[in-house]
Amino acid sequence: MTPEAERKLPALTPETEAFWTGGSEGKLLIQRCTQCGRYQHPPLPLCPACRTETMAPAPVSGKGRVKTFTVNHQRWLAGLDPTFVFAAVELPEQAELYVFSNILAPPEAVRSGMPVKVCFEHREDVWLPLFQPDDADAG
Ligand SMILES: [Zn+2]
Repeated sequence: MTPEAERKLPALTPETEAFWTGGSEGKLLIQRCTQCGRYQHPPLPLCPACRTETMAPAPVSGKGRVKTFTVNHQRWLAGLDPTFVFAAVELPEQAELYVFSNILAPPEAVRSGMPVKVCFEHREDVWLPLFQPDDADAG
């Protein structure tokens, strides 16, 4: 078994499939209510705002800002670099809309509030949305 195969991949459900596979087209797809326009992540079968079952995936800019983050130093899996940054990335499309993922940067380079942009890591049937520093939007 390769280290890659040991890494747990998210299970696809009707609600989460778009989020995990949008990267195949280079898009970060976030569930959005087609009635009231509210974004929802993680996905839900019902809109939490207007209670209708009219949620559909919608592409967002892929940009965001690090809200909070933690640095992992524990070697959970053989072959996986134990030092990585796990962050709550707030998307600009809506206040308090967060995607939780890894930041592809050294821990000492990550700051709360830093601009990041999405990138994707293709593994089997999912495209993991990860974030990297967005130097074009710094400052
Ligand atoms: Zn709604």
